[in-house]
Amino acid sequence: MIKRRKTRTVKVGKVKIGSGHPVSVQSMAKTDTVNIRATAAQIRELEAAGCEIVRVAVKTPEAARAIKEIKKEISIPIVADIHFDPALAIESVVAGADKIRLNPGNMKDAGGINDVIAACRDRGLPIRIGANSGSLTEMARGKGSPAKAMVSALIKYIEPFRRKRFGDIVISLKASDVMTTVDAYRIMARECDYPFHVGVTATGLPEDGIVSSSIGIGALLLDGIGDTIRVSLTGDPIQEIPAARRILSSAGVRSFGHRVIACPTCGRCRVDLAEITAHLKKELESIQRSDERAQGSGCRGLLIAVMGCEVNGPGEAKSADMGVAFGKDKGAIFSHGRIIKTVKSKDAVRELVKMVVSEQ
Ligand code: SF4
Repeated sequence: MIKRRKTRTVKVGKVKIGSGHPVSVQSMAKTDTVNIRATAAQIRELEAAGCEIVRVAVKTPEAARAIKEIKKEISIPIVADIHFDPALAIESVVAGADKIRLNPGNMKDAGGINDVIAACRDRGLPIRIGANSGSLTEMARGKGSPAKAMVSALIKYIEPFRRKRFGDIVISLKASDVMTTVDAYRIMARECDYPFHVGVTATGLPEDGIVSSSIGIGALLLDGIGDTIRVSLTGDPIQEIPAARRILSSAGVRSFGHRVIACPTCGRCRVDLAEITAHLKKELESIQRSDERAQGSGCRGLLIAVMGCEVNGPGEAKSADMGVAFGKDKGAIFSHGRIIKTVKSKDAVRELVKMVVSEQ
């Protein structure tokens, strides 16, 4: 059982971050924020995929003002991503952003940061303070290991917020190197009780980025570190959402419905296990969708094991909520540790789906 790190709670619109609240899934729109129609459409797609908080790039006052119109079209909280110019943060607050993301490392105007703090305090908005390895100054980079340099920079960034007693803060420390990212969050976890937005940055295309993110985010989640996550991928942001949900589900910190595990198969397997597993997943997804429509929420997640033979099959199937271990033409169906019947291989999926429905 993972013991989550204790943090304070930060509220981003309707989503609570930290203190044992579910680890939320974030992404970022890749459209030009000024293009209200395209940005709202992409956010709605992200939302439909399961994104719970979305960030948009705010490069100009016009982009900040667009937040007001985008918000009318979406229902998840929106975060304004600000670099260089604190005035853009104030514009975004006025436009109705639910959170501000600042990189104080690239802001020269300390007075401007104080104004952002005052504006966010007035509206009860949190601020995410992020240090990215790519934006550390040469001076900051020189201090010890890259992870320590990021943490030292971040602690410096937080000082004005501490001086103003502004505690509605979320921290992020992202590097493109997985070990640096993990080390930085681990060090910072000993220094504060702010919730963490966890992710590895600049990971590349999905085939590379999902692996790096799974290792980095996964290692931290297993340590109990991480209150909201983003899988940063090059390409369509929609791909980030199922990847993030799978990481959370594999780490055992959240359930998004039923989870199917299956053996890799070998020469002992006498059924098309890949086809059977894909068929079962599809059936379960459709049950889950109708259940969500009926109840307005996800259904209880069951663990279902699909195993190719009698070697490891019975063991895995027994320790899952339910499962099947195939033999020649037949499958032994398990429920909560016991064989309850044997069916023809072709009927195994139907039988498992029936059992799942009866447990929902
Ligand atoms: S459960 Fe059986 S079929 Fe599957 S990998 Fe193990 S030995 Fe092979």
